[in-house]
Amino acid sequence: MTTDTPKHDILKRSDGGAVIMDGNRLRDEIIADIRAAIVKANQPKVCLATVLIGNNPASRIYVRQKRRKATEAGMISHHVELGDNASQIEAEAAVRELATDPNVHGILVQLPLPQGLDTSRILNPIPPAKDVDGLTPASLGRLVKGEAGHLPCTPLGVIRLLERYWIPTTGKRAVIIGRSILVGLPLVILLGRKGVDATPTLAHSRTRQLAELCRSADIVISAAGVAGLVTSDFLSAGATVIDVGISRVSKAIVGDVDFEACRNIAGAITPMPGGTGPMTIACLLQNTLEAAKKLGVL
Ligand code: NAP
Repeated sequence: MTTDTPKHDILKRSDGGAVIMDGNRLRDEIIADIRAAIVKANQPKVCLATVLIGNNPASRIYVRQKRRKATEAGMISHHVELGDNASQIEAEAAVRELATDPNVHGILVQLPLPQGLDTSRILNPIPPAKDVDGLTPASLGRLVKGEAGHLPCTPLGVIRLLERYWIPTTGKRAVIIGRSILVGLPLVILLGRKGVDATPTLAHSRTRQLAELCRSADIVISAAGVAGLVTSDFLSAGATVIDVGISRVSKAIVGDVDFEACRNIAGAITPMPGGTGPMTIACLLQNTLEAAKKLGVL
C-alpha cells in the first residue's frame, strides 16, 4: 500500500461512525515510499542522527521508535547519547559535531532536555538544512515567512492526516487547543496558509467557553496534554477531531479526546495511540529524505 492508494479504499475502513484516521497505516505508507525512493537511487547512505540527553524514560522510548523506523525506511540511524550529568558545553559540542559531519543529513535532539540545560543554545547550532525537527529559530522563522524549510513534524503530521483523509480545509473553521511552539503555534500558521485556507482559532488554558468555541468548528485539534478534555460536548455533528495530547493514566496512554464518546458524533477522528504519534515519526523521516536530497545525496 502506498500513498497513492485510492480514496474509496482508505475511507471504507470507517466503522459505522466516524472515519478513523489511521496514523499507523499512513506512517507505514510513507515509510514504504521513502524506502522505495532510497532503493531507486541505488541506496545512498541517508543518515538521521538522534541525540538523547538524560534518562527521561518517555524520551528513550520515542528515540528508540524513531531509530527503528529510520532503519525500516532504509536510512542509517546514528545515535549520540549523553547522561543526565551532561554539561551545557558537552551537549552543544555534540550537536556542533553533527552539524559539520558531512555524513549526517538530519539531526533530531529529543526534547525535553534535562533541567539546567539551555535548549535554545543546544538547538541553535543545527543548520536549517539539517533541522529535520523544524524547531530552530531559523526554521520557525522560515515557516512564518512562508519560505522553504523543514516544517515541525507534529504539526506537519496533522496536515498530512487531513490531506490523506480528504478532509476539506478551505474556508473551514479550525480550533487548535494549545499554543506551544512545538504544536499549536506552527499548526495555526500551516492551517491558515494559502492552499490550506482554513480559518484557525488558537485556544489555551485561559480561553473561555472552550466547548462552545469548539462546537463552532469544522476541525478540532487538541494539543493540551489534558486527558479526556475534549468530550462529545465539544463537537458538532460531522466535525473532524484530531488528538495530539498524550497523557499516561494508570500506565495506559490516553489522549485529550474522549474517543468513545466522540466517535459517534465526529465525521473523522484519530485514535490514541495510533493517530498523530506515528505521523510525527513519518514526517521526521520525510524531512530527513528531503534534507538528503537537498544536500545532494540522492
Ligand atoms: P505544552 O507546551 O505543555 O502546551 C500545552 C498547551 O495546552 C498550552 O498552551 C496550555 O495553555 C494548553 N492547555 C493546557 N490545559 C488546557 C486546558 N484545560 N484547556 C485549554 N488549553 C489547555 O505542551 P506541548 O509540548 O504542546 O504538548 C501538548 C501535548 O501534546 C502533550 O500531551 C504532549 O505529550 C503531546 N505531544 C504529542 C505529540 C505527538 O506526536 N502526538 C508530539 C508532541 C507533543 P497555556 O499556554 O495557557 O498554559
